[in-house]
Amino acid sequence: MFEQYKLPYAYDSLEPVIDALTVETHYSKHHAAYTKNFNDFVQKAGLEGKSVEEILSSLDSVSDVAIRNGLRNNGGGYYNHNLYFSTIAPKAGGEPVGILAEKINAAFGSFAAFKEKISALAAGQFGSGWAWLSVDKNGALVLSATGNQDNPISLGTGCKPIFCIDVWEHAYYLKYRNMRASYIQAFFDVVDWNAVARLYESAAR
Ligand code: MN
Repeated sequence: MFEQYKLPYAYDSLEPVIDALTVETHYSKHHAAYTKNFNDFVQKAGLEGKSVEEILSSLDSVSDVAIRNGLRNNGGGYYNHNLYFSTIAPKAGGEPVGILAEKINAAFGSFAAFKEKISALAAGQFGSGWAWLSVDKNGALVLSATGNQDNPISLGTGCKPIFCIDVWEHAYYLKYRNMRASYIQAFFDVVDWNAVARLYESAAR
């Protein structure tokens, strides 16, 4: 059974960046539904015991189209939101330090340049989707954006995601309405760069 990431913070603790009702709905309705539906599809596909990464990186081996799409969408929703909720925190924000900061500077020139590039990808993603910071096969940092609940694993890029921005309207619409760019800008005030740095270190190993 895949279990939803347990939130170590209260629904209202990301205020004013993300309002309590959005966090509660996002976590207890959307993420919970992806988790339940993913488990149902894993059972239908007979893939119990595999990791979510193994399942998402070998979707082509599932011959039934409905089950494959169910695994892709709900497995992506499960994985993506585990990453999302575990890389934000109350009283966070700021900039990364240490190796992650060095790697961001090396790859993008500066933290400000990185922020500008990933924000543009997030803002420019047409419709629902995500922007990603990932580690590629050679340990380099790369940026991307994907539609729906796709991610760099399910798209077979060989990259491991370490940070994401959810740009589905359910992530921001109650507070920010149509102003996605304002949400993206504010979102950086709740990013837990220590959590992202831990993911970088395990992905780059
Ligand atoms: Mn979401």
